[in-house]
Amino acid sequence: MLEPVSSLQRRALRLAWQFIHPYRKQVVLALLALVVTAGITLSMGQGIRLLVDQGFMTRSPHQLNQTIGLFLLLVLALAIGTFSRFYLVSWIGERCVADIRRAVFDHLIGLHPGFFEDNRSLEIQSRLTADTTLLQSVIGSSLSMFLRNALMVIGGVALLFVTNPKLTSIVVLALPLVLTPILLFGRRVRSLSRQSQDRVADVGSYVAETLGQIKTVQAYNQALDRERFADTVEAAFAVARRRIAQRAWLITLVIVLVLGAVGVMLWVGGMDVIAGRISGGELAAFVFYSLIVGSAFGTLSEVIGELQRAAGAAERIAELLAARSAILPPAHATALAAGRSSGRIELRDLHFAYPSRPGVAAIDGLDLVVEPGQTVALVGPSGAGKSTLFDLLLRFYDPQGGQILLDGQAITELDPDDLRRQFALVAQNPALFRGTVEANIRYGRPEASLAEVEAAARSAHAHEFIEQLPQGYQTLLGEGGLGLSGGQRQRLAIARALLLDAPILLLDEATSALDAQSEHLIQQALPPLMAGRTTLVIAHRLATVQHAERIAVIDHGRVVAVGSHRQLIEQSPLYARLAALQFGLG
Ligand code: ADP
Repeated sequence: MLEPVSSLQRRALRLAWQFIHPYRKQVVLALLALVVTAGITLSMGQGIRLLVDQGFMTRSPHQLNQTIGLFLLLVLALAIGTFSRFYLVSWIGERCVADIRRAVFDHLIGLHPGFFEDNRSLEIQSRLTADTTLLQSVIGSSLSMFLRNALMVIGGVALLFVTNPKLTSIVVLALPLVLTPILLFGRRVRSLSRQSQDRVADVGSYVAETLGQIKTVQAYNQALDRERFADTVEAAFAVARRRIAQRAWLITLVIVLVLGAVGVMLWVGGMDVIAGRISGGELAAFVFYSLIVGSAFGTLSEVIGELQRAAGAAERIAELLAARSAILPPAHATALAAGRSSGRIELRDLHFAYPSRPGVAAIDGLDLVVEPGQTVALVGPSGAGKSTLFDLLLRFYDPQGGQILLDGQAITELDPDDLRRQFALVAQNPALFRGTVEANIRYGRPEASLAEVEAAARSAHAHEFIEQLPQGYQTLLGEGGLGLSGGQRQRLAIARALLLDAPILLLDEATSALDAQSEHLIQQALPPLMAGRTTLVIAHRLATVQHAERIAVIDHGRVVAVGSHRQLIEQSPLYARLAALQFGLG
């Protein structure tokens, strides 16, 4: 009844082994408990035989006492064995899944950002939760159920033969008749239950998507979303109903076929008892073993489906774990002098297209040199490639052509961790995490003291508004900094960058919805942040641009002009046009 082990299952087994391996001791103990309990359960049949033949039939209280005493002893051993088995096996399951979750997360967090573009993060999330939960149920119960029932079947059949070969032959011959339809039905149920799970996952991701965009959903037509969600739920229900129906039939089939077979057995065996060919105890033991074998077979067929599903889950997890980052540290990383860059950046004839749009050059022959301590403002129309340049500097992607040099060294020769330590990034929509204000500022330097955090917040002109929050620095922020205005978020991000104290600052100014007061505060917060640092700023505001020593005008992925505000107004038609549009200058 075991299907041949496919390569998929082999891979799943290898993954399971990799994670179970450290807990060999527990596994051995669990197996021991498993064998002992299976043995005891099987020996119960002999107990029943003794009880019937010697206790009831001989009508001797003394022997009955002895038999029941033995029975109680076995029950005690069974209880202890079952406790150990259940505890150990579940423990191993939970432990392995905890390890798997950690391993997968640790691995994912180091993968290049491009990976998450073509692998939707929602799908990855479901792998981390749903697939690992499935694995847990398999390692923590199904696998042991499988082994226990396999032992029961083997032991049960052996004892059936010992008890009565003639009856057993009948059972063995009848077995395929009973099992084939059950197994066929079981397969159908399994395929439906897989579909059912997929539909339920759809429901989950729909909810996550809609609630994540709740304002947009409400601002537009949420009736449509209700209808669409209803469709998703109903689709899940429809599949579930088909699965339930099949399963109900399966259960019915099992009862009719298995108990029918027991009836036939009782009839044949009963005739033998009447004729005196076997004892009543023998028949009782025989029926007991047949029931055990029958139910063990039933469980096995169910559990095998579960094991196959888990093989799929393990396969998907193994796939995640096998994903290699496209951004790898070089075999022999060169270190920066004193571990800290001077801040000299050189971009040479860069060419880059995003992996998701290989035909479209986002950066197309870009050259730029930034001297240590210099501030360069990047301006240009939307889509010109300014943010992409930051992505390349941080080595989230590697360019297809050209080179990026830091202190004269190709950044591909540095350890990516080392490289990224040289940068402080203030994004347009700063990433804030669920947690306290203090923890958010400290994000880049977890060991910083509270005094340092406060000093950074003061320089970033964030201290005042933080003090006014309900719990000051200990105020919990929602996901993405929920509850703060855009300007406040960016000042927190500036404080974070200040605390980090990296030699190079990458600043993407917030474009939208900053009130004059916030804008003023941010302008005040920037000089201390830029002081003594190489700064690349994607500028959307006149103030920043005017203070910058150099402005690089970027268009269609290349630098089309470099100079001061005054020079560019005269020399670059694109800059003059942008300035006229953005700043109301002619
Ligand atoms: P800017 O910051 O100057 O507005 P970007 O660097 O964001 O411009 O974008 C440059 C080009 O790359 C645009 O054509 C944009 O559509 C494209 N682009 C940006 N991000 C991605 C991405 N993740 N995948 C594919 N294309 C992208």
